[in-house]
Amino acid sequence: MRFGTPYAEVYAEGAFVPEKESRLSVLANAVSYGTGTFEGIRACWNPDHQELYLLEARAHYERMARSARILGLELPYDPEHLTRLSTELLRRNDVRADAYVRPLLLQADEQLAVRMHDCGTRLYLAATPMPGDYIDRRGVRCMVSAWRRTGDAAVPNRAKVIGSYVGPALAKTEALRNGFDEAIMLTGDGYVAEATTSNVLIRTGERWATPTATDDILAGITRWQVMHLLGEITGALVEERRVHRSELYSCDEALLCGTAVLVAPVVEVDGRPVGDGHAGETTLAVQRLLQAISRREDADHHPEWTTPVYGAA
Ligand code: PMP
Repeated sequence: MRFGTPYAEVYAEGAFVPEKESRLSVLANAVSYGTGTFEGIRACWNPDHQELYLLEARAHYERMARSARILGLELPYDPEHLTRLSTELLRRNDVRADAYVRPLLLQADEQLAVRMHDCGTRLYLAATPMPGDYIDRRGVRCMVSAWRRTGDAAVPNRAKVIGSYVGPALAKTEALRNGFDEAIMLTGDGYVAEATTSNVLIRTGERWATPTATDDILAGITRWQVMHLLGEITGALVEERRVHRSELYSCDEALLCGTAVLVAPVVEVDGRPVGDGHAGETTLAVQRLLQAISRREDADHHPEWTTPVYGAA
């Protein structure tokens, strides 16, 4: 099964049901207007433990609660309960491989009204396999997109809003059609924001930096983890500050991080090599650490970042 093919059971409107029975109407409000919020949570299989671990489920559901508050939608459960629903979903589907949980909070009523109220807010959870070796050790080639991020005064990126993914989708297609792997998007006033579904960190000399949460990014859970691990490795804090486009051309190391890519080295931006054009050493070290943590390979290194799915039963 490929990424995006749902496992047989989903959680829809208060119950676990066969995915085939959980059809959203083509006239559901969210389908026309993108009125809703979502999350993406990685589940990592450890064959030695015969255990599946959810990565930072609580943090993802806390962000979902904040997204819901921004949109004025009611999230019916707290992060603990939502984490329990997620582990139950994976157990019901007997998932024993790398997977991905996609929670959605949607305006689901059949109502063609452009508004954020009274359109039947409903919660759905689906899971899909995440097959293949997703760890990119070679690195990605990026272009700076002509498409900019929306600002907080238009569609807030702080909230993971469904409709706001049209811009990143345009940017991704632009990048792929131009022969690159990924697009880096700027803020409306030209500062570095983020890639299409991941955050950007750069190192110049000894200092790591990343755009601030007020530079129109989605503040990633993985970004926070990577900042934490960089602190452990280097003993220094990652600076959260405005980042110029030209810093992408002059930095010594750059990486993308997010639930899907985990940690990916950036080796080129707009045809210019990053550093010596190879994956950065520190980036690869963080990648290894996060991959091990996500499977709880070292019981002492941030076990609080993972939730066992079967042991939690
Ligand atoms: N920015 C955007 C626009 C994203 O969609 C994502 C993926 N959720 C990220 C950053 C990375 O966030 P996270 O590490 O929480 O997955």
